[in-house]
Amino acid sequence: MDSDVIVIGAGPAGLCLARALALRGLDTTVVERQPLAAIAEPAFDGREIALTHASMRILRELGVWQRLAADEIAPLRRARVIDGDDAGFEVDAAAFGRDRLGVLVSNQSIRRAAWAAIDGEARVRVCAAATVAAVGGEATHAWLRLADGTPLRAPLLVAADSRFSETRRAMGIAADLHDFGRSMLVCRIAHADPHHGVAWEWFGRGQTRALLPLREHLASAVLTVPGDEAQRLAALPPDAFARELEARYEGRLGAIELASTVHAYPLVSTWAHAFVAGRCALAGDAAVGMHPVTAHGFNLGLAGVARLADAIAAGVAQHGDAGHPLPLARYERAHRRESRVLYAGTRAVVELFGADRTPLRPLRRAVLGTMRALPPLRRALAAGLIDEARQPASVLRHARIALDVLRPRFGNPGA
Ligand SMILES: Cc1cc2nc3c(=O)[nH]c(=O)nc-3n(C[C@H](O)[C@H](O)[C@H](O)COP(=O)(O)OP(=O)(O)OC[C@H]3O[C@@H](n4cnc5c(N)ncnc54)[C@H](O)[C@@H]3O)c2cc1C
Repeated sequence: MDSDVIVIGAGPAGLCLARALALRGLDTTVVERQPLAAIAEPAFDGREIALTHASMRILRELGVWQRLAADEIAPLRRARVIDGDDAGFEVDAAAFGRDRLGVLVSNQSIRRAAWAAIDGEARVRVCAAATVAAVGGEATHAWLRLADGTPLRAPLLVAADSRFSETRRAMGIAADLHDFGRSMLVCRIAHADPHHGVAWEWFGRGQTRALLPLREHLASAVLTVPGDEAQRLAALPPDAFARELEARYEGRLGAIELASTVHAYPLVSTWAHAFVAGRCALAGDAAVGMHPVTAHGFNLGLAGVARLADAIAAGVAQHGDAGHPLPLARYERAHRRESRVLYAGTRAVVELFGADRTPLRPLRRAVLGTMRALPPLRRALAAGLIDEARQPASVLRHARIALDVLRPRFGNPGA
């Protein structure tokens, strides 16, 4: 065999998996279609990733976190959810005695740091600028042939090649795709009025606006609109786009200037029918492609990467086989259980808040009013973000956290 595992895709999930396997003493071959320079010095792509405390912990264990500069990490102290002109509700880390709910790190920085963590690692071999011509699985191993004729074999093949994974399809794993008919426009903005360190999610008619505070007077603007409108807006000159944002943010940020390029992401969520099939496992977005509104995609992918690395290492330790079906089945069960809740919950949030259907408006107001009126519910929401455990969103864990935070807190009435 060429290595213990072949990973297709050197995105954040694929790179973190290779690093996690190297730390467990296993050899990985990573196959990526982009050239090496694009992996080592990834371009800015507009995404600012909200990381939970659990993800920060995993990235620290992988040695990725340590490769981020201090000015690449923006603390997320307060978050506000607003519906139209309804005041909505706010969640504040200080209410938990913590200084942050999570952090914001650009996808570009995460990718660069993940690469830095494996660069020069003897246990990781990278085939960059590579085209996969064919993949397959036998009883004892998976195989792959590159377009230049190079053959690769390993006990396990992992597809980490995005939500539109070609490997997933080639290995015969079906997936549900849901197209929301909307696109998300993201860019950095410099703005005149302060953001006071508060992140917003602001639902409205025909659009959802979000603001992610990065530094004083610098934030990420996130605008979700129907696909054709996104195309029109993305084609505007920078000044005209900035004026459009000022109007859509209703002057709440004062004068706005673009501080980066604008990037558009058509919103399509995906759910693979299986996360393991024979000698193939799915990781990251290839397993579950989340709608970004709840900011769970990479957090979930990272939890899955940690679980999958444990399962592969258990296969080697207990059965002498990195692709042994028993530990892989445990990975699949645990990751599907955790993902299902988040995937369905996120779809429900988009349906309730993202759609313009009038009958839903009273329900939206009721949900926000309840959140505003009941601090324990806000605490339950935030507890999932600040919990540092490796598997933050399993059903049992959520239930335990919710029960814990719903317990009356004597002497802490302001939370
Ligand atoms: C606007 C936006 C905001 C987001 N915000 C958040 C957030 O706040 N919090 C959060 O947790 N998540 C967020 N996400 C989700 C997060 O960005 C993704 O979950 C994460 O990037 C997925 O990483 P990945 O490695 O699985 O896939 P990708 O990043 O898609 O990487 C896949 C890699 O595979 C390579 N590849 C593809 N096909 C092939 C092939 N056939 N052969 C070889 N290589 C191939 C690609 O070139 C790429 O390098 C957001 C997403 C978007 C779009």
